[in-house]
Amino acid sequence: MLDIQKIRADFPILQQKVNGKPLVYFDNGATSQKPQVVIDAISKYYQEINANIHRGVHTLSQLATDAYEIARGKIQNHINAKHAHEVLFTSGTTFGINLVANGFASILKPGDEVIVSHLEHHSNIVPWQMLCEKTGATLKVIPMNEKGELVMAEYDKLLSDKTKIVTVNHISNALGTINPIKYMIDKAHEVGAAILIDGAQSVPHLKPDVRALDCDFYAFSGHKMCGPTGTGILYGKEAWLNKLPPYQGGGEMIKEVSFEKTTYAELPHKFEAGTPHIAGGIVLGTAIDYLNEVGFENIQQQELELLAYATERLSEIEGLRIYGNSEAKTSVISFNIEGIHPYDIGSIIDKLGIAVRTGHHCAQPIMNFFGIPGTIRASFSFYNTKEEIDALVDAVKKAQLMLS
Ligand code: PLP
Repeated sequence: MLDIQKIRADFPILQQKVNGKPLVYFDNGATSQKPQVVIDAISKYYQEINANIHRGVHTLSQLATDAYEIARGKIQNHINAKHAHEVLFTSGTTFGINLVANGFASILKPGDEVIVSHLEHHSNIVPWQMLCEKTGATLKVIPMNEKGELVMAEYDKLLSDKTKIVTVNHISNALGTINPIKYMIDKAHEVGAAILIDGAQSVPHLKPDVRALDCDFYAFSGHKMCGPTGTGILYGKEAWLNKLPPYQGGGEMIKEVSFEKTTYAELPHKFEAGTPHIAGGIVLGTAIDYLNEVGFENIQQQELELLAYATERLSEIEGLRIYGNSEAKTSVISFNIEGIHPYDIGSIIDKLGIAVRTGHHCAQPIMNFFGIPGTIRASFSFYNTKEEIDALVDAVKKAQLMLS
């Protein structure tokens, strides 16, 4: 069991008032708050070792390089990658997905197929549409059902020897559905297709084991897991990363450059052109240490309790509909109140100190499926409490009274 008050004391922002009310932060799906150790580690980096990496013989450059590579190793262990060079630092999930989609432009031919799902964030739709436009490949979509689950029987039917890559999120940001990715990975491999998992919404809640999953790529963002914005990781199997061309050209990613021919550096540097977010990469390692200290079992237990409590309490409200009610679900509740625009509820409860997300959550196809412009999304983290959920329910009831 977590000592929630002790955990909350680690997050200075949670002690703040917003609009004169104690902050209730339920927009964790968009970005998580940062514990003091992460904030301190950023200052410490700039105060003590700031230098460019992999370039200098001087002491600070070596200290910064060592810290960066130690962080890579921590992340390798955290996701159980076989090699450190399979762990690429990126600026976030979006970058990682684009890197892979761009690489597949050199592989796909007209008639090949790319499979995405109806449950994706725009970041895992648009890069593949761009790829299909470029190559003449066809985009296929795994449909969803009313519970917000992907229909596996339809997925099975879409797979064929034309499928070259499948790309799906581990957890849906808009509905919280946990997708059956192990099944999907094994099925993709049966037809010889690669598979990318968008882990943006899973890494705050669980520790992915990329070797046990056997996925070819796994992309995630640091800022949703207590790390800094502008950081992320793309895991790729060594064989795939060797096969794909570099994404960006520049310093660091080359072996030798001449005007006649340039040769590329070994992994991971082939995909890490230019000066990266050095402090961010190092501090992502600190954030992962923090989460492991809290413990993912504890995190899941707390979040599932919050999900059950919030589902029960919000269901008291007349005319409230929750979208996405799969049994396999993480701590996200997307809802609307009959006859009221989600934006209006969000704006009123903000005045009461409650931060939720309103809108389409970068998942317009899901909103179109339900025939709605958007939802109110409350996404809970392990540092949230049942008292905060009570505050949300009271605030939503108040907003409903004002607006109806
Ligand atoms: N995929 C999913 C499922 C997400 O929820 C998000 C962000 O909300 C992204 C991708 C994009 O992440 P980022 O903006 O950090 O690149």
